[in-house]
Amino acid sequence: MQLLDGKATSQQIKDELHVSVQSRKESGKKIPHLAAVLVGNDGGSLTYVNAKVKACEQIGFESSLIQYDDNVSEEELLAKIIELNNDDEVDGFIVQLPLPEHIDELKITMAIDPIKDVDGFHPENLGKMMLNLPAFLPATPAGILELIKRNNIDTSGKDCVVIGRSNIVGMPLSIMLSRNTNPGNCTVTLMHSRTKDLKQKVREADIIIAAIGRPGFVTEDMVKEGAVVIDVGTTRVVDESKKNGWALKGDVDFENVASKCSYITPVPGGVGPMTIASLMINTLKSMDLRNK
Ligand code: NAP
Repeated sequence: MQLLDGKATSQQIKDELHVSVQSRKESGKKIPHLAAVLVGNDGGSLTYVNAKVKACEQIGFESSLIQYDDNVSEEELLAKIIELNNDDEVDGFIVQLPLPEHIDELKITMAIDPIKDVDGFHPENLGKMMLNLPAFLPATPAGILELIKRNNIDTSGKDCVVIGRSNIVGMPLSIMLSRNTNPGNCTVTLMHSRTKDLKQKVREADIIIAAIGRPGFVTEDMVKEGAVVIDVGTTRVVDESKKNGWALKGDVDFENVASKCSYITPVPGGVGPMTIASLMINTLKSMDLRNK
């Protein structure tokens, strides 16, 4: 079994991006600027946004964090998005999800100028992704593909199950792995809560990707010998041995599954850091898309 070390791979990517930024600086070009909008005080969202801002600092990107209380109105948030769309200094921006219930996430996503949509959630970017045209790719699926690529895992012709069909992970990932690209060329089964015979189908897969948010859902009996297992799940579970009282748990029962796999991602330290690395790749890409 080989561990797919997302932390080390993402550091490697950040180092490469740092070199690119330095060379942009030396040739007098603009340094990419990523802005992040955060609404409310959710601990998880705050942690993710802080990690994104920190990654910008490490690489040498400029960054700004715009914070609102939970009770910000949809109108105020939309006005900020229009402002960021028109701010030539900002090359890309994200609005950290989830948003409070009184705000329509789709309306917010649709308001972002696709050319600054470094999260790759706008329908224009998702459509281009489907057609394999240049676009911002959604960060988590793109990070998973990068991890697969950098570990020379052959996906062509493989049977892959993606468990979970969210718009930000499972659904786009199923398309990206189906495309005629490398990594890609998989035969993908996209699974969800209505899937019948799920366990049996997972057991037949060469590549298993779990993105449902149910700790330990994928058990040893569901994994065939030599499978590649990618765990996207990150659920906070009570852990009194930790200083903060919780630990992050993945969707895979890592302890019992690992020995059966050819490759497996840990949680934490697998997909999470790769998501941030992809966002940073998209931020640099924004310079090309905007001809800067
Ligand atoms: P989500 O919106 O929470 O949706 C969960 C998906 O799982 C749904 O499609 C649901 O099916 C499916 N599901 C739930 N229970 C199931 C079951 N028993 N059998 C089969 N399918 C089931 O998904 P998400 O936003 O992608 O989040 C999933 C997990 O990934 C969470 O733990 C989240 O924290 C984590 N995540 C991690 C990263 C990272 O960078 N590491 C990024 C994003 C998300 P239905 O559609 O039928 O309801």
